[in-house]
Amino acid sequence: MAYFNIRFIILILLHGGRIMFKEFDETLSFETNILEAGAYFRLSTSNPEALPIHLTTAHNVEDLEDLQKRYDEKGFCYNRNRNPNRTALIELMNYVEGGEDSIGCSSGMAAISSSIIAHTKTGDHILSDKTLYGETLEIFTKILQKYGVETTFVDFTNIEEVKKNIKSNTVILYTETVSNPLIGVPNLKVLANIAHSNNAIFIVDNTFMTGALVQPLKFGADIVVNSLTKFANGHSDVVCGAATGKSELIKKIYELQVLLGTQSDPFSSWLTVRGMRTMELRIKKQCENASALALELEKSPYILKVNHPSLVNNPYHNLAHEQFGDYYGGMLSIELPEDLKKINKFMRTLKLAHYAMTLGGYRTSFAYPVMSSHSDMTRDERLAIGITDGLLRISVGIENIKDLINDFKNALEVAYGNK
Ligand code: PLP
Repeated sequence: MAYFNIRFIILILLHGGRIMFKEFDETLSFETNILEAGAYFRLSTSNPEALPIHLTTAHNVEDLEDLQKRYDEKGFCYNRNRNPNRTALIELMNYVEGGEDSIGCSSGMAAISSSIIAHTKTGDHILSDKTLYGETLEIFTKILQKYGVETTFVDFTNIEEVKKNIKSNTVILYTETVSNPLIGVPNLKVLANIAHSNNAIFIVDNTFMTGALVQPLKFGADIVVNSLTKFANGHSDVVCGAATGKSELIKKIYELQVLLGTQSDPFSSWLTVRGMRTMELRIKKQCENASALALELEKSPYILKVNHPSLVNNPYHNLAHEQFGDYYGGMLSIELPEDLKKINKFMRTLKLAHYAMTLGGYRTSFAYPVMSSHSDMTRDERLAIGITDGLLRISVGIENIKDLINDFKNALEVAYGNK
């Protein structure tokens, strides 16, 4: 017994005299005291350089006054409501997106679905862009429709079409900063004005750009949703999301989140915060690489079309420049002839770019929307929004650009040329 007490005293001294552990009650037994060892670590006690991971279901409260204080001050009580790592993520997201408040979610889809559901009721109408991430489209058609919320899909780059389809019961206008997978760019300011003059809120998915490149809230969006799984985290090792905006709007989503249990867990929040510390560096390099790759691929005789707003002949070039400045995003798509044998050969020959059902990571990856994000649509439905059987979506990484260009040129030559 005496041996263990000496050990604890040594540990206290090792930390420069700062109390790392609660002083042990000598009247209690070892088996009781050992339950407390190290358990009194607080954010403020050891001044760690990096935020520790707070894997805890609940936080002990001192008394009812302390409990009330925690309720009043958004303190920590129960993980589903709040956790230090999620709070760190929330504070980071408020800064990154320039919002008053945020919620940290278990995925991008959790952020999207809870933001929409929290702000709709039976009888409401939503006006949505028609080229969105496929599973977001399904939230409208498979979930909300069941509860009597109707959605009209239009091309948000056609402002007249948007205005024509607004109804008296339209409560949300929904779009993505850069649409998936055709890389279209809607005019955020104009759409926000249309929404507000009809008493609707404007929700923007900023996954492809992130707050490091554009803050839709500054263009008038009311809520910005992000899949942090992608560019924000950037390391392809987590699934996480967030919604950011005015406090009163986020409060409604938070209340729904607590009931649905769609919060980000401590480790995912920690990983996301860790990844986000370097997001600006990574994303800007990804944008530069994407612009250079798009320019090179546009010259290829084997590619029918390259979609990237950095290209001067791209229909969204000027608007993208106005909204994003010189960084046009790390996503592009290419249209190859609809010949699956050759597409497969092209994919197999690429050495640096890998097929991955994600995007935004530090390595270049690509996906085939027909068999991933838009696989639930019929070919005719896909063609109606411009997705052919030859479309490949490319997420550009931070590789050396010469290596990357050579990889693509070689694979194109092997699949389509005489190599
Ligand atoms: N929004 C966009 C634009 C996406 O591309 C994705 C996923 O690829 C999501 C949302 C969904 O994100 P998550 O997979 O984190 O739920």
